[in-house]
Amino acid sequence: MLTIQHRIVEEIIAHALQEDPRECCGILAGKDNLISRIFKLTNIQKDPDRYEMDPKEQIQTFEEIERLNLELLGIYHSHPHSPPYPSPLDIMRAFYPTIAFFIISLLDREKPELRSFEIVKKKVKEKKYRVIP
Ligand SMILES: [Zn+2]
Repeated sequence: MLTIQHRIVEEIIAHALQEDPRECCGILAGKDNLISRIFKLTNIQKDPDRYEMDPKEQIQTFEEIERLNLELLGIYHSHPHSPPYPSPLDIMRAFYPTIAFFIISLLDREKPELRSFEIVKKKVKEKKYRVIP
């Protein structure tokens, strides 16, 4: 089962709050289904309700993940004003069928909600994850 360290969840929430009202985005890596590294990327999209990872940072991050002998396990972004469910555009642009798409919703700012999905051939399925200390 996909597992994520608690401090990574906290960093995703902090990143979302920091970029609010814009969407934040980033990459999650680890080994054996355990997410242990977070890479916060720059959202280069001008539209505040979308995200697009800086392609140069994305390449650097993929290289760094390889250098650290880790695996790409997830991509995350925030929904500052909508529920944590993939938008039609998120689904259209989900190019990695094996990873988890994490969405952090700030609808309730006191209690940000983080959900994870698998998107394969435009089909969305919730992917359960577990948080460890
Ligand atoms: Zn989205």
